[in-house]
Amino acid sequence: MGHIIMTQQLRLTPEMLVPRLGEHLVRQGHISEAALQKALDYQQEQIALGNHPLLGQALLDLKLIDKVTLDQAVTEQIIQLRGALQAANRSLERRVQERTAELQEALHRLSELSQLKANFVSNISHELRTPLTHIKGYVELLVTESLGPLTEEQRHALQVSQQSTSRLESLIEDLIMFSLTSRGELAIKQEAVDIRRLANLSIKATAQKAEERGVTAHAVLDEYLPLVQADSQKIAWVLGQLLDNAIKFTPSGGRVVLRIQHENDSLVTVSVTDTGIGIPPERQEEVFEPFHQLDGSATRRYGGTGLGLSLVRQIVEAHGSMLEVQSVEGRGSTFKFPLLVSTDAAKKPSRD
Ligand code: ADP
Repeated sequence: MGHIIMTQQLRLTPEMLVPRLGEHLVRQGHISEAALQKALDYQQEQIALGNHPLLGQALLDLKLIDKVTLDQAVTEQIIQLRGALQAANRSLERRVQERTAELQEALHRLSELSQLKANFVSNISHELRTPLTHIKGYVELLVTESLGPLTEEQRHALQVSQQSTSRLESLIEDLIMFSLTSRGELAIKQEAVDIRRLANLSIKATAQKAEERGVTAHAVLDEYLPLVQADSQKIAWVLGQLLDNAIKFTPSGGRVVLRIQHENDSLVTVSVTDTGIGIPPERQEEVFEPFHQLDGSATRRYGGTGLGLSLVRQIVEAHGSMLEVQSVEGRGSTFKFPLLVSTDAAKKPSRD
């Protein structure tokens, strides 16, 4: 309703810019008020008869004005209208310019805020890492009994602390990686990487978590795998994230497989498949948005920052590759991306 009223108010009519012809003729002294009223009455009568004469025609019919004066008055009105339109255009342009300047200012403030946020995340994540390194070091000293013997309960308490510190460590790593990408500082080193070694290390690193959740996780690697061209540290991080998610979103009794296939002379494909809860097709793009989790409720069952997949995709794309997801709700998901075979012929590929 409000919308309709608005558009009616905004529609520009000539009457809004210059007076109607009748008023103009009266004002100019070409006809009297009484003559105008007579012509308007005549016009109404004609309309009742099915004719639709314009006011000018009515005045001519009634001989209340001569043709030359009428033509001149109409021409004056057209000139006035043109001038008024030009003025309206100028004021419109000025308003557009003002609004554009306001929007530019808002955009500027927004990018400043976004920069502040990125700096804050970067500083805070580095600041968090230092005390955590101390905690980790001392817990390690305690757990290895370097500072004295432990009771069974003390050992257990320290093991729980160790698990929590590694969880904190990986959250901080996520934040550091996020601040690097959001500041456009994601530099990819191009190294000749032994992907078999990385895959085995990643599986080893997630073994405990998989076991705790009653999920089997293993690597299926082609017998021959050439070295790939990649940033070893970042791809290791990507494998860790994908395996972490696969284990996290797979119920007990499920299976997670990290597969590396030698596709052809130039490509090696990396994929992580699980038999978990899956992602509905209409939400498969959403999972790559930063801070986005499909279960965003306060009572959500799975932990995490919602940063993992967004960063995984950015790292994969920074390698000139593409991350693909295939998933069936209730059946499981596969995250997959190709890597280029390294052209570094001096290094030998690994074999089992
Ligand atoms: P996080 O794991 O911290 O929640 P991610 O960015 O890694 O953040 O994942 C975003 C969301 O995508 C998850 O919260 C989950 O809803 C969905 N998701 C990611 N991986 C899987 C998977 N293997 N199976 C089902 N859902 C997944």
